[in-house]
Amino acid sequence: MIDKTFDHPRTADVKPATPVDIPKMDTAFTALGLTDALAFGVQEMGYVTPTPIQTQAIPIVLKGGDVIGSAQTGTGKTAAFALPIIQRLGAHGKLRCLILEPTRELALQVEEAFQNFAKFTDLRVTIVYGGVGYGKQTDDLRRGMDILAATPGRLLDHLEQGNCSLANIDILVLDEVDRMLDMGFLPDVRRIVQKCPKERQTLFFTATLPPELEQLAGWALRNPVRVEVDRQRSPAETVSHAFYPVVASQKFELLQLLLEQTEFKSVLIFSRTRMGADRIAHRLVSKGHTVGVMHSDRNQRERIEALEGFKGGKYEVLVATDIAARGLDIVGVSHVINYDVPENAEDYVHRIGRTGRAHKTGDAFTLVTEDDVRDARSIERYMGMAVERKKIDGFPYIYSALFDEKALADTAALAVKPTSRLHRGDRR
Ligand code: AMP
Repeated sequence: MIDKTFDHPRTADVKPATPVDIPKMDTAFTALGLTDALAFGVQEMGYVTPTPIQTQAIPIVLKGGDVIGSAQTGTGKTAAFALPIIQRLGAHGKLRCLILEPTRELALQVEEAFQNFAKFTDLRVTIVYGGVGYGKQTDDLRRGMDILAATPGRLLDHLEQGNCSLANIDILVLDEVDRMLDMGFLPDVRRIVQKCPKERQTLFFTATLPPELEQLAGWALRNPVRVEVDRQRSPAETVSHAFYPVVASQKFELLQLLLEQTEFKSVLIFSRTRMGADRIAHRLVSKGHTVGVMHSDRNQRERIEALEGFKGGKYEVLVATDIAARGLDIVGVSHVINYDVPENAEDYVHRIGRTGRAHKTGDAFTLVTEDDVRDARSIERYMGMAVERKKIDGFPYIYSALFDEKALADTAALAVKPTSRLHRGDRR
């Protein structure tokens, strides 16, 4: 349902030029070619060393080169493109940079990152996405901006209504392109690319590169440099994993005990279905937890409220379906719990990518029922590592075959070798 009244308040208003004196900087970020103002900005945000994708991509983007980037989630990808883009744009002018994102949440996140990084410049950042009214977005677009973060469908609507033009785009960022493919957005993306000038810099980020995307990249990019940071299949090394075997009827009980026994700051719980997510949330609330819920049946206002409430500490638990798994940057998630094992091994990596982001540590717990044993093994094969099976002392387990020594040994043997068969790009 379209929520006509709500517009996110963070969208940029006219911003004054830099209010502080920028000191002379000599940091790992200036060594990559970034200005003092940008290095000062990231220092203020607590960044000390650039992440590998930043080290690789920033110099290329600064020189104006096209990039095909693949980096696991939480690697600092946004700053890897946002910082050099802000530097290249320099001062306020026309709409020169467009970033396409598959979901509203990702668009909001990227817009927020740009706002933070551009704090000491007079560049203006705006955002448009679907599911909300047009009024404020139209006003923002007409007021003018340098950088626009957008989801494809809504941007096309605004373009058709003449609310903005892509005629001066110098830099086009296609982010999470494999996700756009999954969501059926590629025709829209192509139409948007065609509306941008041919002379431009294009940055293309994707976790996998199936043939459709190879083709799109070949068409949209010019002599791109490939930047690859870790295979997508390997989750962040700062995350520890555990599988908790349990029968289906005892899942909630076990979840409750896990929450009781774990010292957590914030927990993200994944459910396979929307109804399941609602049910888990409801039961957790009745046990006294503060809980936000995020899935595609909730409207935009509810989703933002849940996400902001979780980020701000109002909710200690966020229950979500996989809609929240891709790319969302939620700082300080200490635990991810898979109430249901994800159907695709790759989704596991995305889900747990919500914790252990940018060098922080995190724990990923997965409840595994007898029906999930195969999927659990697929995950281990996909990641090329065995995950420890854990039992909670004192829990009244009603079935224990899942702990059987042979099953555990088999799992360990199966887990050693990664296979490309499960790679999403190959499956299509
Ligand atoms: P991203 O992969 O772009 O979603 O970034 C994940 C998280 O890492 C965000 O919270 C960033 O603010 C943070 N981050 C990005 N770069 C760095 C860095 N060089 N040092 C510390 N944190 C960073």
